[in-house]
Amino acid sequence: MKSPKLIPDRFYLGVDIGGTKIQASLVGESGTILGRQRQSTPRTGGPEQVLAMLETVIADVLVPANLLPGDLTAIGVAVPGVVEPKSGYVVVTPNMSLTGVSIGAHLESRFHVPVAIGNDGNLGTYGEAWLGSARKAKSALGIWVGTGIGAGLVQKGKLWRGAREAAGEIGHIVMQMGGPKCGCGNLGCLEALASRTAIERDIRAGLQAGRKSMLTELSGGDLSVIRSGSIRKALKAGDALVTEILHRASETLGYACLTVRHLVDPSVIVLGGGLMEACSGYMMPIIENLVGSDRLPGAREGGHVLLSALGDDAVVLGAVALARQHVGRSPFKKRYRVKPAYPQITRFGSGEIVVSKKTYDRDICISVSGKVKMRNKDGARRQEDQAHTIGPKELEDVCRGGPAVLFIGCPRADGVTLTEPAQRFLSQRSIRCEILPAGQLIDGYNKSKSRKAALIHVTC
Ligand SMILES: [Zn+2]
Repeated sequence: MKSPKLIPDRFYLGVDIGGTKIQASLVGESGTILGRQRQSTPRTGGPEQVLAMLETVIADVLVPANLLPGDLTAIGVAVPGVVEPKSGYVVVTPNMSLTGVSIGAHLESRFHVPVAIGNDGNLGTYGEAWLGSARKAKSALGIWVGTGIGAGLVQKGKLWRGAREAAGEIGHIVMQMGGPKCGCGNLGCLEALASRTAIERDIRAGLQAGRKSMLTELSGGDLSVIRSGSIRKALKAGDALVTEILHRASETLGYACLTVRHLVDPSVIVLGGGLMEACSGYMMPIIENLVGSDRLPGAREGGHVLLSALGDDAVVLGAVALARQHVGRSPFKKRYRVKPAYPQITRFGSGEIVVSKKTYDRDICISVSGKVKMRNKDGARRQEDQAHTIGPKELEDVCRGGPAVLFIGCPRADGVTLTEPAQRFLSQRSIRCEILPAGQLIDGYNKSKSRKAALIHVTC
């Protein structure tokens, strides 16, 4: 039997320069993430400070892997603003200082490796189209809700960039005539109504008007930045002010989805970004409801709303897809499609399983990149009371990296159950799930040609 080869022969670097953090990931040709590093984006100083931090993060991810920049096939960089992809020039970044920087030329002269640059909303969608929720869709529109709101449109493996490289600026479609002022200068933009920045503004205004919220306590009195995680906690606790503001923001996003669906009719709409990641449990039903209530005949049947399957990695993976396209190895071309090397399961009975000649007598997971890990049984039990009930929290871990199919194995067919939120977790990310008893699991997993992950209960 051929031993699985986990070291890819080509390495890429995907970089996501955000307003709050700079993330760099080392990625194999199959899209497997081999290393990640992140640092806070410098808030003071100019572009020199951002570039210096960028080089630090790149070095941080290459050193532990024992690689030199020359070992990379290409680097892809995502920038939160308008860019000129051909020249690698940053036209404008409204929320950070990279405006006017020739970032592509700078990195190429520094590392002597081909560099491709793109807009972060575009590349997040590109990542989802390659390996995420939109992996099977002919066309996808991605909407990214965080500090601002960005979007991207991908059709048959190609990004729609617009005549002036400014397509996908969904954050600046006007959703309320004469509404609140947006960072761009216009009034009532989507971003001025439903981004985290807009939500923070409305929460602060509510508090100033004398309303109460647990956020005052959660933030220790400093409400200059309200994190998505705090908003999630307040929602969970039923905080009236936060719930009211998030309800309005979710509705606005729902109407924006309706609008763009009528305009471009994409196969799917993928929602992601920090705020969506944190608060999807509350926001998605409202958005789905609105999009589902569309009265226009024909429009209702398509353009389903999904959640990002790649989370934090969507943008870096999109940057790598762009870098691959830049060097003539687009992952959307059949001949350059590479799958991770998966291990073989050779035996599975009550009490033990053999994977790649190694015997395990405890529950295991096989990640989308083919790595075998012990299942965190205690964590799962704490969350769902019973070890054989699978909840969304556990799936978040197992499904990292965007599998198309998840195999769940158990000695007995009726041994495991998925909670309803867990089933929703999978369908919202277009992940197919197969729950199989021992005998069928070996065949099912080994023969599947999809990108796959597995969660295997050895005892039931
Ligand atoms: Zn605007």
